[in-house]
Amino acid sequence: MREYTHILIGVDLTEESRMVAKRACALSRAFSAKLSCMHVIEPLSLAYGGDIPMDLSTIQEQIQDTAKTHLTEFAATLDIAPENQHLIFGRPETEIHTLAEQISADLIVVGSHGRHGLALLLGSTANGVLHGAPCDVLAVRV
Ligand code: AMP
Repeated sequence: MREYTHILIGVDLTEESRMVAKRACALSRAFSAKLSCMHVIEPLSLAYGGDIPMDLSTIQEQIQDTAKTHLTEFAATLDIAPENQHLIFGRPETEIHTLAEQISADLIVVGSHGRHGLALLLGSTANGVLHGAPCDVLAVRV
């Protein structure tokens, strides 16, 4: 099997993220690979468009602050340095592909299911990440 040098973990900050991280860590140790993690915040404006006639910016800032805190805590348990932690706005599958390319990750690790996939064989984000990924993808069964 070829060696991986840089592993990117997609983290949705659910409890299942721990299982995904455990597998990614084991792989990074086995290959002495660098580990990066990312969480994508879906902008409320993307989710709700103009449907809600109110200013969503304060709520969006609170979501960002909370996500930052949780991602920092999560990364600390994996010994991932701040420069390898990424908090990005957008659509998860698109941003995961873009960042994987930017940082030259050669393996993306996600969970098979997270927030959007409980009833499916493969969650919608996991499925989206598989399609068109610039490198290998591991969907850890959760
Ligand atoms: P889902 O397909 O949404 O059920 O999620 C499956 C997996 O995709 C999760 O276990 C995460 O690894 C990844 N994922 C989902 N949402 C995000 C997100 N917002 N940011 C980063 N990774 C995510």
